[in-house]
Amino acid sequence: MNIHEYQAKEILKTYGVAVPDGEAATSVEDAVGIAERMQANGTSLFVVKAMIHAGGRGKGRTKKNHAKGVILCRSVEEVREAAASLLGDVLVTIQTGEEGQTVNTIYVTDGVDIAQEYYLGILLDRGNSKNVIMVSTEGGVEIEKVAEETPEKIVKEWIEPGMGIQPNQARRLAFALGLEGDSFKKAVKFISALYNCYVVTDANLVEINPLVRTPEGEIVALDAKMTFDDNALYRHKEIRELRDESEENPIELEASKYDLNYIKLDGNVGCMVNGAGLAMATMDIIKLSGGEPANFLDVGGGANVETVKNGFRIILDDPNVKAILINIFGGIVRCDRVANGVIEAIKDPEIAKKVENVPIIVRLQGTNAEEAKVIIDNSDLNVISAVLLKEAAEQVSNVLSA
Ligand code: GDP
Ligand code: MN
Repeated sequence: MNIHEYQAKEILKTYGVAVPDGEAATSVEDAVGIAERMQANGTSLFVVKAMIHAGGRGKGRTKKNHAKGVILCRSVEEVREAAASLLGDVLVTIQTGEEGQTVNTIYVTDGVDIAQEYYLGILLDRGNSKNVIMVSTEGGVEIEKVAEETPEKIVKEWIEPGMGIQPNQARRLAFALGLEGDSFKKAVKFISALYNCYVVTDANLVEINPLVRTPEGEIVALDAKMTFDDNALYRHKEIRELRDESEENPIELEASKYDLNYIKLDGNVGCMVNGAGLAMATMDIIKLSGGEPANFLDVGGGANVETVKNGFRIILDDPNVKAILINIFGGIVRCDRVANGVIEAIKDPEIAKKVENVPIIVRLQGTNAEEAKVIIDNSDLNVISAVLLKEAAEQVSNVLSA
């Protein structure tokens, strides 16, 4: 699960990680109120930031007002203008794709004077079964670019799971950033606090880009991205509540409401499968037959009329879908039941209308597969049956070239 920068910074603060003061707002008036309070406390440089679940905001532009996603302001009046130019507009960055993301919330923060920008990231290194902390003196730019062009500028420390971060590891990382004196000590504290926060919250990524050193030698997180392990959210109610559904893919969101495991992809063949392994194999089959999978969809063990109907609704929400491959293994469920379920689902008027021009290939294998094939073949619907995977692949290939 992703959260917004302002939410990440609020969490980081509670773990003793240094972040600039700031407050989120959803209206221009609120933003002005925040800036006025900050001004009364001595702030003269403000930053207004678009809160979307994507990075690259500084270089991005909004569609209507052509505003940057990160705006430095010298007065409350400029904060007002910045807020007005962002709220409700659609921000496009290299991470959002062309369609962009609507800005519903902005973050008004204390502007920080920058002496130098660094990169600091923590993530799970699956290859090594360890968390890895990465730092680089090349802050503020995309780390992927640094990794590609100057990988020697990224310094890594792998953390032993049972031991946690060791003081000498935090020191090595701070040293790699070329820090000295007070800034060095502050960076060591920053890195240790950040690692602690990452572990305790069950995050699987924390990225501070840029981490900055101020002219006074302070070490502060100017940006913060955090994502969490979905499987651990059950034990973090307060993090679960930070979910912002408006930032999520609407089809994936609907699927999660039906308890379906759906991931949207860019292809033209929708698929509905029981079991994640078979779903992966089905996507391979689609590719082998010359198509591209439009989605990953695991309907789970049940595959009854309701799940099949919901599966159809989700798949058919995607206008790119030219054909649907249903691949069900009848182990616990009997194939003849699934076949009847598929037919009943297609007869649903709402679904029937949408599948008029979308051929459906149903491959049922397992208990009562032959009976199931007869049921499908005897229906007068636009459904093609298959028993072997090879047959299913051929049928996909046929309907795509028709
Ligand atoms: P991103 O573009 O989405 O990654 O947004 P960031 O929060 O990283 O901001 C982009 C850039 O804006 C940073 O790399 C900084 O150069 C600049 N920036 C952000 N906040 C401040 C600030 O408080 N002071 C100054 N001087 N620059 C800032
Ligand atoms: Mn950034």
